[in-house]
Amino acid sequence: MKAAQLFGPGDLRVVDIPMPVPGPEDVLLRVARFAPYGTDVGTFLNRGGRYGSNYPFGIGADFSGTVEAIGKDVRNVAVGDRVSALAMDHCGACRNCRRGLTNLCLDSARLNAPRQVCCQTHTLVRANKLARLPKGVTFDDAAMLSGLVTVMNGLEMLDPAIDETVGIVGAGAMGWSAIAAARAMGRSMIVLGGARKRAQIARDLGADRLLEITAYDDDLASRLKADVPGGLPCVIETTATDWGLKQAFAIACLGGRLALLGGSAAPATGWDLVARQLTVHGVRAGHHQEMVLDLIAAGRIDLKPTITHRFSLDDSPRAFALLTGADPEAVGRVMIEIDPAA
Ligand SMILES: [Zn+2]
Repeated sequence: MKAAQLFGPGDLRVVDIPMPVPGPEDVLLRVARFAPYGTDVGTFLNRGGRYGSNYPFGIGADFSGTVEAIGKDVRNVAVGDRVSALAMDHCGACRNCRRGLTNLCLDSARLNAPRQVCCQTHTLVRANKLARLPKGVTFDDAAMLSGLVTVMNGLEMLDPAIDETVGIVGAGAMGWSAIAAARAMGRSMIVLGGARKRAQIARDLGADRLLEITAYDDDLASRLKADVPGGLPCVIETTATDWGLKQAFAIACLGGRLALLGGSAAPATGWDLVARQLTVHGVRAGHHQEMVLDLIAAGRIDLKPTITHRFSLDDSPRAFALLTGADPEAVGRVMIEIDPAA
């Protein structure tokens, strides 16, 4: 079968590899769509060396596809089902899994299991992390599911009241997901970040207000606080950068809640948290697959307008070249049509 594999940082090649065989709890999927986002770009570039050293390896986690074969113990899906998978494994039996918090599985074997890869014609996935796609959810929709699941987890923890405006830092794949999810919850929002095409996509998705970034390290928080002196009660940081963390902590009001999707040094000491009584939530992906699929099926979330470019599997190296190129503000979501006929 055909697969895109990394042979070094930035060196993606389409090669032939053996077709995997499902174990008792696995499912063999024919991949339909793969929508790369920040994590995949990090893997592609191997930023900071944190993504891998044992080249070559496959890439991609956010995908949709069709069940082609199932292991002997699989009961929840059948051959021919259209599905999407979460990135992380879970055991289904520990205290957190039993409460539905599958993203917080306590089983160390599952915690350290390698993620599936999907920039290839077929992939193996553990059956318990698959969700069947409801009618009305396309392969394009489902290939962008994991970002929505993550931001929905963050928004659920922030729990914005109906009169509380949500601050969203970042206007990329995760930021657009946050805008669409906040919109579906009926909350107003202010977005910090993005320019040109990226800012336009954010506005089209329903951002009530957007402060465009005009230069590297732009201090958008000061601009926001000129208009909203007290700051905002709920903030979701989607860029996973030091810049984004700085903006997020700066715009939170007294008693504010923050949800963080990544980043390194938080720009707040323990005393800062105490003096402003901030609540900070780390967001470790999410477990909201069915909820988000229902919102898409009902037409309340639609990320398809964020797609600006489409590539075939053979052209996937060009897709990553575009995503890491000189003009990111001109690029929306990139869809790799692994199976163009699907
Ligand atoms: Zn578990």
